[in-house]
Amino acid sequence: MRLDESEQSENLEDVRGSGGGFGGGMPIPGGRGGLGIGAILILGLIGYATGIDPRILIGGAEMIFGGGGNSGYVQQSMPEQQSSGPPQDEQGRFISAVLANTEKVWGEVLPQQTGKAYPPPKLVLYSGMTSTACGPGQRAAGPFYCPLDQKVYLDLGFFDDMRRKFGTRMGQFAIAYVVAHEIGHHIQNVLGTLPKVEAAQKRVSEKDSNGLQVRVELQADCFAGVWAANADQRFKILEAGDVQDALNAASAVGDDTLQKETQGYVVPDSFTHGSSAQRTRWFATGLKTVQLAACNTFNANPL
Ligand SMILES: [Zn+2]
Repeated sequence: MRLDESEQSENLEDVRGSGGGFGGGMPIPGGRGGLGIGAILILGLIGYATGIDPRILIGGAEMIFGGGGNSGYVQQSMPEQQSSGPPQDEQGRFISAVLANTEKVWGEVLPQQTGKAYPPPKLVLYSGMTSTACGPGQRAAGPFYCPLDQKVYLDLGFFDDMRRKFGTRMGQFAIAYVVAHEIGHHIQNVLGTLPKVEAAQKRVSEKDSNGLQVRVELQADCFAGVWAANADQRFKILEAGDVQDALNAASAVGDDTLQKETQGYVVPDSFTHGSSAQRTRWFATGLKTVQLAACNTFNANPL
């Protein structure tokens, strides 16, 4: 992947190593905006106990690439997170450059293709745990987008987990694709899709609610493809092997693959992200068509 890393986003909040800065709402030893070591340990243990088991054992549906927007958001106190200036490390600068690229591309493409302006989301780089308007964020949950504060949350350790657990080669473009998928959820929020889906999910069975969530996720994959195609047209970002890397990553995090990996069998009704073949196909659809309109997963049959 070719990316101009001198272009850094102003919307990146780097709170790695800050302990997450849980604000308000709970008594916190250690003072304003920070956590005492004891609290960090306790929260870490709770997070470890509650975070790992249900998601991975149930099939990792929400573990990878974030929930995107159902799961009954609980409004919590807003985090008091402070950005510590632009990242200086290589990985942090890479994510910031990807974010800057998505801002340029969507800033042009969204108005062109939908008539809507693009309000860029913030991206929060954290390590371990952080507070979000959608509840606590933690590395085991994977990257996710919170529609309530319009922020993407990313713990870079997730990519090491992917490499270790699934043997997925997470090259630069595969990482960019993960970021673009989360930004895809932001586009869905801007277009009013997420609130509509969330309202619909409250009225239907769990099976149908999962079905809607799959369509949300596959559309975010398709939007990631639309970003990649438009970014390549403008900035020639793609190099040989990049697309295959991203498709492999998309395939590795299909629900069927994850379920087989974690529980040994596949339960299609419990899918919330789509199968490996579906994720691959919708990313490729966005990439090929370059058009958001081609990403109508809600009318696609079969998916
Ligand atoms: Zn998602």
